[in-house]
Amino acid sequence: MIWRCPICRTATDSAADRHFPFCSERCRRSDLGAWASGQYVISEPALEFDDTDFVTREEEENET
Ligand SMILES: [Zn+2]
Repeated sequence: MIWRCPICRTATDSAADRHFPFCSERCRRSDLGAWASGQYVISEPALEFDDTDFVTREEEENET
């Protein structure tokens, strides 16, 4: 699977790149740094946590 590094947009290969989804350790560490400082906005489809069902259920409970 070809992906793109979320830091620099370089193409990466999930089967071949051990830093996947990052192109390199440099970008991987850059991402961790962004997480730690709270600057990172989640935009990673492969790791997306589907919380829409939870939100919908919560709204329904409030209505009844
Ligand atoms: Zn990169």
